[in-house]
Amino acid sequence: MVLLAGCFGCEFVVFVFLLRLFGAQCQDFGYEGAEGPSHWGEKYSQCLGKHQSPIDIETHSVIWINYPELHFEQFGALLRNVSLENNGHTVVMKILSGEKPRIHGGPLKGVYEFGQLHFHWGPNDTIGSENQIDHHSFPLEMHVVMFNTAYGLENAPKIAGGLTVLSFLTSLSPLNNHQYDKFENGLHHVEQLLSANTMQNVGSLDDLTTTQRRTYFTYEGSLTTPPCSEVVTWIEFVKTIPLSKAQVNSFRMIDTKKGRLTHNYRPIQPINDRRIFYQNSSQSNLQGSLAPAMALLAALFLLINT
Ligand SMILES: [Zn+2]
Repeated sequence: MVLLAGCFGCEFVVFVFLLRLFGAQCQDFGYEGAEGPSHWGEKYSQCLGKHQSPIDIETHSVIWINYPELHFEQFGALLRNVSLENNGHTVVMKILSGEKPRIHGGPLKGVYEFGQLHFHWGPNDTIGSENQIDHHSFPLEMHVVMFNTAYGLENAPKIAGGLTVLSFLTSLSPLNNHQYDKFENGLHHVEQLLSANTMQNVGSLDDLTTTQRRTYFTYEGSLTTPPCSEVVTWIEFVKTIPLSKAQVNSFRMIDTKKGRLTHNYRPIQPINDRRIFYQNSSQSNLQGSLAPAMALLAALFLLINT
């Protein structure tokens, strides 16, 4: 179903045209069989690279680090007018009007601006996230894709350091997360393949993610879908987003050209020579005895999400 909203009608028609054009070009990969992740490298050589994403973050081997503070700008601003689209691989939200959120600081070299956000999920609640923590998978993972303003939206995906993905894992809650009410309703309107919808006043990025963003893992990696470009600084936040089983299930209603999109997560990739860093701004003495600190890190991860 397509909802047109007043003066945004013309823009929306163009938007749907571009979506269909874009979608037609992107239907050559999937998550099963001959189109599945193990075959992506046949058409997209970068998918065979040595710094691919997602990865399994083993907390006993991360490097504690003390980056400058991450600065989030406009994350609290109301998202007044956004689009939601089903591109056959995921559900993508873009901001159609209004100031775009920005981020800088932390491991980032430059200022990054919001491009889009999307999700990855699995056929049941035990799997679905792309990145894992200590071999543990989560039911859903949100990727907020932001581009380096020094390169611009078009060129950033082709240049090292061009993108950062703010990654938020979800945890199951017995209650609905009411900050997702509007978004969940919007999902029902884009269940059909290549359908799109506009939504007004869906809350803020702070509402859709979490404001507890001082603790995170970070590493250099790639896009998790073709062309798998190795241009992404990943920031994987430790604090999870609570969603109910019903809310997670709403994502599994999305249609592809081959039926429901029950799963869209890429298998974990080798870390190879990369280092994974751990930032915890609430810790006052990161240079203290690291051995016991590492032993406590996994416990901290569980504690911070309870
Ligand atoms: Zn993604």
